[in-house]
Amino acid sequence: MQPMTKKSVQNDYLHTILGYLSRYRMLALPGLAVMALIALGQLAGPYILKQIIDVAVPKEDTGLLLAYAFAFLGIVSVTGLLSYVGMMLLARLGLSIVTLIKQDLFSHLLKLPISFFDKHPVGELMSRTETDTERVRDMFSNLGANLIVNVLTMIGIFGVTFALVPRLALIMAGVSVLLLTVLIVFFSKIFSMYEKARSFYAAIVAKVTEFIQGIEVLKAYGRTGWAETELDAAAKQRVSLEVRISLIEYTMMSVLESLIGPLFIVALLLLYAPKVLTGTMTLGMVLLFVEYGARLLRPIAEIAESLRSLQQARTSLSRIRKLMAIAEEPNRGVGKAPSLDREIRFDHVWFAYEGDEWVLRDLSFVIPKGSFAAIVGASGSGKSTIISLLCGFAHPQKGHILIDGVPLDEIDIVAWRKHIGLVLQESFLFPVSVLENTRLYHEEISEAKVREAISVVHVDGAIEALPEGLATNLWERGANLSSGERQLVSFARALAANPKLILLDEATSNVDMTTEKRIKESMDVLRKGRTMIVVAHRLSSVLSADRIFFLSGGRLIAQGTHESLYQNLPAYRLLVDQQFPAKKRARA
Ligand code: ADP
Ligand code: MG
Repeated sequence: MQPMTKKSVQNDYLHTILGYLSRYRMLALPGLAVMALIALGQLAGPYILKQIIDVAVPKEDTGLLLAYAFAFLGIVSVTGLLSYVGMMLLARLGLSIVTLIKQDLFSHLLKLPISFFDKHPVGELMSRTETDTERVRDMFSNLGANLIVNVLTMIGIFGVTFALVPRLALIMAGVSVLLLTVLIVFFSKIFSMYEKARSFYAAIVAKVTEFIQGIEVLKAYGRTGWAETELDAAAKQRVSLEVRISLIEYTMMSVLESLIGPLFIVALLLLYAPKVLTGTMTLGMVLLFVEYGARLLRPIAEIAESLRSLQQARTSLSRIRKLMAIAEEPNRGVGKAPSLDREIRFDHVWFAYEGDEWVLRDLSFVIPKGSFAAIVGASGSGKSTIISLLCGFAHPQKGHILIDGVPLDEIDIVAWRKHIGLVLQESFLFPVSVLENTRLYHEEISEAKVREAISVVHVDGAIEALPEGLATNLWERGANLSSGERQLVSFARALAANPKLILLDEATSNVDMTTEKRIKESMDVLRKGRTMIVVAHRLSSVLSADRIFFLSGGRLIAQGTHESLYQNLPAYRLLVDQQFPAKKRARA
């Protein structure tokens, strides 16, 4: 990506905002018109009072007086009504825009590579997107509205004053510019404090998410107290900062409202009251200016504050845009449907997650279609990484993975994944029905197919026993099933999808003996007519593999059947003997 200049960032920002506004112009334009009318109403009120005092009262014209009074009443109530309408319009504008952004953001997140999620904790991601999008919403609903009304009111006050007493308008403008500058400088000074408070908040949300995800561990080890202390400390840190910010802010506002405001009015009176006595200015006029002067301060303070919030919203928007700019998972082979008619071949594959810390080193092997391959090796030897590469979650830096001779990178990865049935060590179940967990909302997989899959993996008994059978909603992470049953449902999921390639990554590592037996039986059904790659630490499930690949430190040390490896590879023999001491005795 090219480095952006400050100017282009600014243009970009405006461009984004205008883009959203034009998309919702049916809300934005009427909203703007209403804001202009509200500003007009705010100017008109004091002017009517002036007319009453300067025109109606001296003339002793009761009719005119009443007419002005009704006009005043009318304007006040119409302005009130308009504020309501304007608020509604802009609230909808903000909501529509933020919904759009959130949808875009979520659909973008879904397209990001798996490596992105390795590096971004879910809590941080959620709080970041949530606060950032909410700020953008605020920009379109409140901030924008306030800023527009305030700026228009200010311009109006200057305009009317200028038409009546030009010199005063200039004085007012001078004072306003001065105040505005002071306030803007002030707000930009505490801007970094706001940002810090925000990052404290994100950290708290991230912590809470992690603690809740790990609640069992915390409880089991009696460490909930520690979690509480951690959160407490983080919360206190945030509160003290927020308090400091509020204190500074309120002090500034009070100085403005209770000192500078009255001073300004007193100055006005000193300047113009004598003129009333000498008859060079009407009483109504002086009251009008006092009223305008008082009404000027609030917009100034609010404009400065809005500018600060706009700056925040802008930071948020740029963060959102940065997230949106992260490259989606590439799919270079769109439209190129995969075939798996012959083989999967690793051809001198090198892979590193980070720099040149090679996790897979010069891997070459072939898995013929329809065969049962097993990958064994110590923990950390790179077995799961091979599975990741096969799913296209990561890409080799050197060498190729070839499917029937075609590099995986050149195949439509989405279509390829449809051919894969993946079962991991930790099954992930969604809080929806067993039926949908099994078919993952694939309508083309019929309920009958799901039932069949469920019964092939022998979990039908457990599912029938649930209150609503297949329709029973699972709890979060499938908590209302035992871990073995959860794993069997994952197998049913793989079976129901009717994939060509089955990938099992330590799928039997966490289960009890009964479940393991069931899984082994279902594996026999599952592999019929399919290619199956099983990663296992426990060797029992791979003894019958057509070919076992023995991995060590990311290198392929040996390959062969169980028997040949047992004969020829001491490291393998050691592993087998550790796991099956009885066999060792039998063989000896
Ligand atoms: P295995 O499945 O054989 O236990 P893995 O393939 O999971 O091994 O891991 C191989 C090596 O790669 C390990 O050293 C591990 O720390 C590292 N690794 C695994 N996943 C990641 C990741 N997402 N980011 C960085 N390093 C990783
Ligand atoms: Mg692993």
